[in-house]
Amino acid sequence: MKGVLPRVAVLGRQNVGKSTLVNRLVGQREAIAHSSPGVTRDRVELEATWRGRRFLLIDTGGYLHAAKGIEALVRAQADRAASEADVILLVVDARSGITEEDAALARRLRKVAEPVLVVANKVDTAQEEVDALTFRALGLGEAVGVSAALGRSSGDLLDRIVELLPDAGVEAEEPPAEPRFALVGRPNVGKSSLFNRILSQERSVVYEEAGTTRDSVDAMIEWPMGTVRFVDTAGMRRPTRVHGVEYYSFVRATQAIERADVAILVVDALEGFTAEDKRIAVRVIEAGRGFLVVANKWDLIEDKDRTYKLMAEEVSLFAKASLVRTSALSGQGVPRLPHMLMDLHARWNSRATTSKVNEVLIRAVTEQPAPRGAGKIHYATQVSSGPPSFVLFGGATPGATYQRYLENRLRAAFDLDGVPIRMKFRLRRRKTPASP
Ligand code: GDP
Repeated sequence: MKGVLPRVAVLGRQNVGKSTLVNRLVGQREAIAHSSPGVTRDRVELEATWRGRRFLLIDTGGYLHAAKGIEALVRAQADRAASEADVILLVVDARSGITEEDAALARRLRKVAEPVLVVANKVDTAQEEVDALTFRALGLGEAVGVSAALGRSSGDLLDRIVELLPDAGVEAEEPPAEPRFALVGRPNVGKSSLFNRILSQERSVVYEEAGTTRDSVDAMIEWPMGTVRFVDTAGMRRPTRVHGVEYYSFVRATQAIERADVAILVVDALEGFTAEDKRIAVRVIEAGRGFLVVANKWDLIEDKDRTYKLMAEEVSLFAKASLVRTSALSGQGVPRLPHMLMDLHARWNSRATTSKVNEVLIRAVTEQPAPRGAGKIHYATQVSSGPPSFVLFGGATPGATYQRYLENRLRAAFDLDGVPIRMKFRLRRRKTPASP
């Protein structure tokens, strides 16, 4: 992590209009400037908000005084921006075309892991839009043509910027809600018994809150490590209840999964991981929820080793989820659950730095290249968490097998067992870089 708010560095040679652009972006109607010159004289950091996303714009104007000679200069500027920013804007002057300094900066920036957006400034009229096209030759994709002085297209530019931001700004918007868990599974597997056991763990304080539908009730539990919510637990706490097969129907489970962060699928160990259980598991993964399977009634199992091995293997096909053995009858295995759930929730919500993501994926692609150029990755970034979602810029979307390979590499590197991973592949259109 490079700080609480995502950071956008504004880079470019002198006189391309960096400061005007920063002021324009911050001064947009939706963008609010809160503060405040940065700590050192050679850079200014301003907070901006666009479509609900907060981020810091770093005006790097002063970098230029740092070193001598164009190569040393741009290297210092580019490397510094890359080390402290999540997104880099390379500002160029649409009227002057590509200069030697622009090309040198672009060469350096093609090597950094962070997403780079080329901004062609001084496009004051629609006729001048064509000038922006020439900057493709920098090898950093299509330039966004703007006029910082007139405000032309600055909304479009802000849209492009927030698209590339990691999600820290969203989290900063409001304090995160309590972790939400759903206990799901077929009737009679022991959900209610297990839930009552969970309630007696960890000196819990419990109170109820209305859920979202008329008859659903959530249970709020205060654990020593924080308050958590179990969604739709109506009927689970009282031993005498109407226990229709309908109640925990697939539809009901689906709704609970939608509202939860992490789903705990309770299965009857005697019956194994049944086809119906697998249907629910598929729903959990599709919904992008953290996933844990509990094999309850473990006290009834005779060949414990063999049963565990078989079930754990099947369960791990779903996002490498763990299998926990419990007996709601004796309470065995239940004390582990609260910590496992909190840990799973934290991992589901985690965020990896762009540089680490790239390191992992580049190694993965080097060790096992994608067939025929698909899956070629120029850079990648985690754009959101809960579940972790990654955007991979480069070649075409690879086939399912290769996608699974990349997913497994990410899962192993970032400790995401039991966490579904989302990947989006974006084509990065690149022409041959200019060689000035
Ligand atoms: P639910 O429909 O999933 O909520 O299941 P219940 O909690 O109502 O449990 C169904 C039946 O299984 C009840 O008769 C429980 O006493 C029994 N049961 C629940 N957990 C266990 C367990 O761990 N071991 C054994 N032997 N029986 C259990």
